Amino acid sequence: MKPTVYLVIPCYNEEEVLPETVRQLTQRLSEMQAQGLAGEGSRMLFVDDGSRDGTWRLIESFAGENPLVRGLKLAHNRGHQNALLAGLMEARTCADCAISLDADLQDDVSVLPQFVQKFLEGCDVVYGVRSSRETDTLFKRATAQGFYRFMKLLGVELVYNHADYRLMSRRALDALAEYREVNLFLRGVVPLIGYRSDYVFYERHERFAGESKYPLRRMLAFALDGITSFSVKPLRLISTLGLLVSAGSVAGLLYALISHFCGHTVAGWTAIVCSIWLLGGVQLLCVGVVGTYVGKIYSEVKARPRYRVEQKTGEDRPQDGRPPLP
Ligand code: UDP
Ligand code: MG
Repeated sequence: MKPTVYLVIPCYNEEEVLPETVRQLTQRLSEMQAQGLAGEGSRMLFVDDGSRDGTWRLIESFAGENPLVRGLKLAHNRGHQNALLAGLMEARTCADCAISLDADLQDDVSVLPQFVQKFLEGCDVVYGVRSSRETDTLFKRATAQGFYRFMKLLGVELVYNHADYRLMSRRALDALAEYREVNLFLRGVVPLIGYRSDYVFYERHERFAGESKYPLRRMLAFALDGITSFSVKPLRLISTLGLLVSAGSVAGLLYALISHFCGHTVAGWTAIVCSIWLLGGVQLLCVGVVGTYVGKIYSEVKARPRYRVEQKTGEDRPQDGRPPLP
């Protein structure tokens, strides 16, 4: 059976690039349908993330004339990750798998069939991984590399050089729906799903038209979101620092007392220095202890699923009444 494939494309002020995107994706999707890689019901789903230009008008007119185009309009600009999630949750209701990609044609659309092939081989998640970063500026390359290293250090599982170009099966989308966090960092959440996955390598091009919606300020905010949504290690670091300063303060105390009794000090110095060291250490330690509890509350509030069953034996048909995956 041919799978119903949805291409999910978030768009924010993309009127300059949209006609070309629709043209190229229509061609690809039709080819995939002809090759038997995409079923009749396959669509491109454009999610308008509260654009202020004519993006939605364009999507509506394309949907009117092109049966492969569908549109979804968000009431406000909620950011790339939320727009993508909205599209994926819509796709989940009618598709066997969904591939997310950017509207600016930076993600190489010629590898789309490879994604579906891997899906047909039984993968639930297929990550698009950039084979090089040659089209990036030196600054973007360096910051990106630093970010991946830092995340690894904090114990966050990320796929190196993978952004949001990926395929997810309906089963993986169902799992994604269970992650109810508000600060969404999809490339951190998806590896947590844990189903069988594979990679497709591609070259990332320059933006086809228009300009990036991710200036440095938004990129930093996004990186910070990624760190604080996945790791409580910064909180633990405070406790460790508090312990170290407290231990160091004992040595400092000894030094101050010896200096005092040797008579090398001005009156009052010993008391002041001792209190600063000791109080500083104790305060940090206390903040760290509070931080540990805050960290626990944070993980409880996220209410992430604690486990996911991948397979069962002796099961003949899906329990939820939906047709089986191809
Ligand atoms: N985007 C979005 N909402 C936003 C910002 C961006 O839906 O608030 C979309 C945008 O239209 C594009 C994708 O997210 O399809 C990636 O954005 P962009 O290409 O500007 O980021 P960059 O590739 O420069 O990191
Ligand atoms: Mg882009």
